Amino acid sequence: MKIAFIGLGHMGSGMATNLVKAGHEVRAYDLSETALTQAVADGAIGAASLSQACEGVDVVVTMLPAGQHVLSVYGEVFGTAPKTAILIDCSTIDVESARKVATQAEAAGYQIIDAPVSGGMAGAKAGTLTFMCGGTKSAFSMAEPILAKMGKAVIHAGEAGAGQAAKICNNMLLAITMIGTCEAFALAEKLGLKDQVFFDIASKASGQNWSMTSYCPVPGPVPTSPANNDYQPGFAAALMLKDLTLAMQAAAQSDADTPLGSRAHALYEALCSQGHAAQDFSYMMERIRRGA
Ligand code: NAD
Repeated sequence: MKIAFIGLGHMGSGMATNLVKAGHEVRAYDLSETALTQAVADGAIGAASLSQACEGVDVVVTMLPAGQHVLSVYGEVFGTAPKTAILIDCSTIDVESARKVATQAEAAGYQIIDAPVSGGMAGAKAGTLTFMCGGTKSAFSMAEPILAKMGKAVIHAGEAGAGQAAKICNNMLLAITMIGTCEAFALAEKLGLKDQVFFDIASKASGQNWSMTSYCPVPGPVPTSPANNDYQPGFAAALMLKDLTLAMQAAAQSDADTPLGSRAHALYEALCSQGHAAQDFSYMMERIRRGA
């Protein structure tokens, strides 16, 4: 298959490489010369423009920073990609923009799906991402075999925007469990418990959760967690703040009560403004220990 891949940054580069490895002809396009050069070194064909990348393809995949980039890129994809192509947006964007792009795509005669991911750069490289998809059943069935080449799970969440909805709800919950886990370790330390002892107990008791057992915010108990590597990401605090901001926008628009999500947003905003935006989101541990 011929696939246009737009946006070859931290995530897109690994994902496009997995499509190349699966035997597809991947046409890469990025505004960044460095990203494009790397994609070509990884086996993609470099395109000089977005429209050149989209000419005659079967699939268009986008992995872009935010809603405004997605709206602008698809404005050009419509009309240049064949109408038979399936359009797959893997970026994390606001639900409203995802629905807007889907409406525009439908009006222009295209099948489109929003398919944001979980799994980070490591998952993008290893081809073990989880895709949460929003769109029609027929768009999902066209996209599913392509996404399966880049991930371990491809799940249809519902109509257009449902993938984005699942992504921000999941990440709001992740932020809340991370902060809760940090608070529990900080209190346990103040009460004289060793981190490892508290971990051994809580990981087998009712406080057990993914932020503790797979991504422990204190060094020691889970050797692969960023806490053991000076809190290098992993998943940067700035990206968590981005997702929490999208969750808070969606909560306001849908009149949902999210008191803990709102507090998590404020805490990550403070962490980022204190100069820790580039550190892993589990660096919240230091913020909670300091108490400010
Ligand atoms: P990134 O900034 O590294 O990559 C985005 C790429 O898009 C850049 O190379 C940029 O030059 C390119 N780009 C921007 N506008 C463009 C345009 N008009 N035309 C062509 N190229 C354009 O970002 P990333 O970390 O790869 O993240 C991409 C998306 O995935 C984001 O929505 C992010 O929230 C989401 N995400 C990231 C992670 C992660 O761990 N990095 C995890 C899950 C989801």
